Amino acid sequence: MLYSKLFGKTSKTAPADADSVNARLLTQAGFVSKQMAGVYNYLPLGLRVLNNIQNIIREEMNMIGGNELLMPTLTQEENYKETGRDVAMSDVLFSTEGAGGAKIYLNPTHEEVITPLVQKFVFSYKDLPLAVYQIQNKFRNEARAKSGLLRGREFSMKDLYSFHANEEDLNRYYEIVKDAYFKIYNRLGIGDITYLTFASGGTFSRYSHEFQTVCDIGEDLIYVCEKCHVAVNKEIIEEQNQCPECGNQDLVTKNAVEVGNIFKQKTKFTSAFKFLYKDENDAEQPVEMAAYGIGPSRVMGTLAEIFHDDKGIIWPESVAPFKVHLLALGKEDEAKNEAKKIYEELSAKGVEVLYDDRDNVSAGAKLADADLIGIPYRVVVSKKTLAQGAVELKKRNEDDVEIIKIDEIVSSF
Ligand code: ATP
Ligand code: MG
Repeated sequence: MLYSKLFGKTSKTAPADADSVNARLLTQAGFVSKQMAGVYNYLPLGLRVLNNIQNIIREEMNMIGGNELLMPTLTQEENYKETGRDVAMSDVLFSTEGAGGAKIYLNPTHEEVITPLVQKFVFSYKDLPLAVYQIQNKFRNEARAKSGLLRGREFSMKDLYSFHANEEDLNRYYEIVKDAYFKIYNRLGIGDITYLTFASGGTFSRYSHEFQTVCDIGEDLIYVCEKCHVAVNKEIIEEQNQCPECGNQDLVTKNAVEVGNIFKQKTKFTSAFKFLYKDENDAEQPVEMAAYGIGPSRVMGTLAEIFHDDKGIIWPESVAPFKVHLLALGKEDEAKNEAKKIYEELSAKGVEVLYDDRDNVSAGAKLADADLIGIPYRVVVSKKTLAQGAVELKKRNEDDVEIIKIDEIVSSF
């Protein structure tokens, strides 16, 4: 991609209403543009990051047998009346009026859609277990949309739902999803600071689990057992002030962002829709269900909160919008010609490159933009480097600059 042709540019000044590091950096670097409180446009750079995060999640969901589908944004009021969440979730539900005056909700999550949908196709024990998921925007009228992408009113969610013939099978699959979630957080570069957190399951079950990433801006307090790499949340600490795994009472309090949440909903939703299956003896049995969420847009904001310095973002390679940021510095044609050749060869090799080909932009400004945008590898071609028959290679997360011979730079990626 040529930077001169990229829609969305960096800005020297921080947006006046940025209430967080992620809101400021993602806006200044040209990844997002705020529409209104809690609602963002994803510009091309930002969309690449969001897609990369979603694709990591997608790959891991496919690995555990998830069937990807896409449900609608709009759903008729009746479905929410069946579950009682027209009342229980009334504080966050957005609604609109359809033709003829029918009330329509913008889904804040999709239990009211997926449960009756699966019910249309699942009749017998032979149809179970089943796991279906989607990656889609959710709508919640959050009282306080804030912290950039962390708490939006329209936000991206991956929601997986699993359906089982009995609780043992649900418990078996729940553990598989838990492992898949850790694979996801590892690939996103936050595995070591993300804790499986025991949460009060409320009416759903004894326990549900959150995945909490330690981060100063996090709204949640978690109590970490450093021995077991698990934590408990506030509601649980009030009832059991110890590690649920090893009994350790020496828990460390940390701020964290909830980046995922998994629930054993059991028959709460299936019974609301009278969703039964026939067992081996042709007897009707309740279907057991669980739901598993991750917020890709919240993850994107969290990554910017964690991986940055005073110059800008430092993307983990797995989600970065491009692998290489190539800069041609100086007015001389020689540097531009050489950079163009490297750009074409790397692109032909399948390496994703953002090439800053702008004329009339100073070397200092190009270098500052590269730091702000945060692409993992920076390659600089200038009169000075060419005098040595070389280019400069620098990793965004390291200070050292390497001098690489021109004919070796392409093969080094
Ligand atoms: P929170 O307690 O932060 O409001 P939640 O318990 O309401 O989260 P879930 O309904 O379980 O969240 O949603 C699943 C995932 O979706 C969360 O773990 C989080 O990553 C993401 N998410 C939830 N609400 C938002 C939001 N307002 N903005 C961005 N992401 C969100
Ligand atoms: Mg919430």
